[in-house]
Amino acid sequence: MSQNTAAALCNDPVTPCRKVAFVGSECYPFVKTGGLGDVMYALPRALLKEDCEVRVILPLYNCMADKYKKMLEYKGSFMMDLTLEGRTFYVGIMEAEMDGVTYDFIDNKEFFDWGNPYTGLWEDIPKYCFFSKASLAVLNYLGWIPDIIHCHDWQAALVPMYLRTHFAITPVGEAKSVLTIHNLRFQGICSIPHLKYWSGLPDHLFHYPWLKINDDEANMFKGGLAFADWITTVSATYAQEIQTSDFGEGLDNHLRYHSPKLSGIVNGIDVDIWNSATDKLLEAPYDESDFLEKKILNKRALQQKMGLEQDDGKMVLGLVSRLTDQKGLDLIDTIFTRIMDGNTQVVVLGTGDSRYENAFRYYESKYKGLVSAKITYNESIAHAIYAGADAFLVPSLFEPCGLTQLIAMRYGTIPIVRETGGLKDTVLPYNPEENTGNGFTFCLYRPDDLLDAVNRAKTVFFTDRWRWDEMVRRDMQKDVSWEKSAAQYADLYDRLSGE
Ligand code: ADP
Repeated sequence: MSQNTAAALCNDPVTPCRKVAFVGSECYPFVKTGGLGDVMYALPRALLKEDCEVRVILPLYNCMADKYKKMLEYKGSFMMDLTLEGRTFYVGIMEAEMDGVTYDFIDNKEFFDWGNPYTGLWEDIPKYCFFSKASLAVLNYLGWIPDIIHCHDWQAALVPMYLRTHFAITPVGEAKSVLTIHNLRFQGICSIPHLKYWSGLPDHLFHYPWLKINDDEANMFKGGLAFADWITTVSATYAQEIQTSDFGEGLDNHLRYHSPKLSGIVNGIDVDIWNSATDKLLEAPYDESDFLEKKILNKRALQQKMGLEQDDGKMVLGLVSRLTDQKGLDLIDTIFTRIMDGNTQVVVLGTGDSRYENAFRYYESKYKGLVSAKITYNESIAHAIYAGADAFLVPSLFEPCGLTQLIAMRYGTIPIVRETGGLKDTVLPYNPEENTGNGFTFCLYRPDDLLDAVNRAKTVFFTDRWRWDEMVRRDMQKDVSWEKSAAQYADLYDRLSGE
């Protein structure tokens, strides 16, 4: 859309001024494995208030709960060619509408009938080649041509490439593309012949400026980043970090080259879902005015639910996380016995590497009544921890944005975080001189530095409760909503669609 047309539509009270298609591999409440799912849900809703019309395009995974499958309405189907041989595949479109956002699910049993939703890269590469190409074909089929196609992570990274090749002279080829990096660790790397075969992309794209990373391998994220009209990542600090060899996951050179079209916009959280005053999953909902009386009721309920001693005097540390190296769990593991001083309890919720799952199971059996580890994925326990814990651990090795510290703050649970990525941008360190800040932070990735931060938190919790409670109130009042960031995305969309 030209700038003039966009401006004309903006003055029209009934026509939204920007049309945006979101393309990504997961979206709460349909399918969620991590923060990407939260963003795919919350950002489109926030964009509605920025005068955008948003469609979210997702795979129709078989693992989606029946109650959501029942919401879907058949919108049409067609055959699409994929692969070097031009094999044809069925593309079905199943649609749902929720609170003003349209969700189009791409149906194909061959690709999406198994997995949770990810399986292994060997199968995931064909799955997301199909998904990326089908997303554009669906937009053409529906005749809904967006100004912006906003793609998320490596699974949707081929969209900008298809847009400028197979779809360049089709209606959707008019759109501009934005590719957001939620986590650079996962890139969609495989052998060149495997990606060549499945993507069907032309040979000349399998060179170093685009998909190729070495003599044998191609990288979907790398190609997408080169072709996208703009790249965003989910915090300003991570946008800088990924241009360094420590955080660039092998793409730092590529990202430095493309840095003129790279910016960081911090994530928010959906403050309607994450609202301690209305949260139906809580024992006792609370807000800034009554947290002193009510938060303790949630703490007791959490202790009971998790099989811990019910003791108001203990400090409860919470952890809700994927249990992987990224999350700094080796630091926690190293200092665990030193955290356990008789006055501290630890509650853990998460799944992931067996090394960490087993470590937390072990601590649970070693410190009966003081440590509880639920090795599972469970939304309701997560809410109970955010509300019932006193402090919340996020000592990540790297953290593009991180949502759990935002949720913890919103629920008045004080974060203890490492100063990296979005953690650095969202948690201001406690300053005892000025009585400011939102949590306890440490800089270097060292176990003793985490222990020091935990001990600083304990000191304030046990010896200066008044200041602790002031920090709780400050955190609950902090703006962690999507409002400001959605406005920044809308500005970016305007800039791009005006070009
Ligand atoms: P990442 O996307 O790297 O996993 P984020 O902090 O961005 O981390 O987002 C994590 C999201 O997943 C949060 O909403 C968190 O509450 C949720 N989550 C993580 N593990 C679990 C779990 N085991 N059970 C319930 N929710 C979880």
